[in-house]
Amino acid sequence: MNIFEKIVNREIPATIVYEDSDTLAFMDIGPVIKGHTLVIPKTCYDPVTETPDEVVAKLMLVAKRIAAAQIKGLGADGVNIIQNNGKAAGQVVPHIHFHVIPRFEGDGHHWNWAAKKYDSPAEMEKLAGQIREGLAG
Ligand code: AMP
Repeated sequence: MNIFEKIVNREIPATIVYEDSDTLAFMDIGPVIKGHTLVIPKTCYDPVTETPDEVVAKLMLVAKRIAAAQIKGLGADGVNIIQNNGKAAGQVVPHIHFHVIPRFEGDGHHWNWAAKKYDSPAEMEKLAGQIREGLAG
């Protein structure tokens, strides 16, 4: 049983901000920015590509509500909604979750989003073709 399932089962504590029959939102214990909230399904799915569409849709709708609440309740100026899949993407807990992170002007956090360049338009087109192939069938 993963740590989020233990939270769902109330075997370990969490500071819950929202709960319904299939979804839970609680405070991340290691906030990127204070107020950082996690949204999870009560049933464990992982990764997003193996999660039923209706579960992903529901999580996103709850994440949207949490984002609105962070703006209204915390006075956030912006919100990051992030969802990691796989170790290579920085995922630690193998139970699908959306991070909803309130952002404030001058909060000092940077994602170090270092934009790269394609070697050529052809290289970008080649990768686009591979993604299109992945979409087919
Ligand atoms: P990820 O790297 O996307 O798998 O994110 C996992 C997140 O879960 C991290 O931001 C952790 O700080 C958070 N986390 C781990 N254990 C707990 C816990 N017991 N309660 C709340 N958040 C947790």
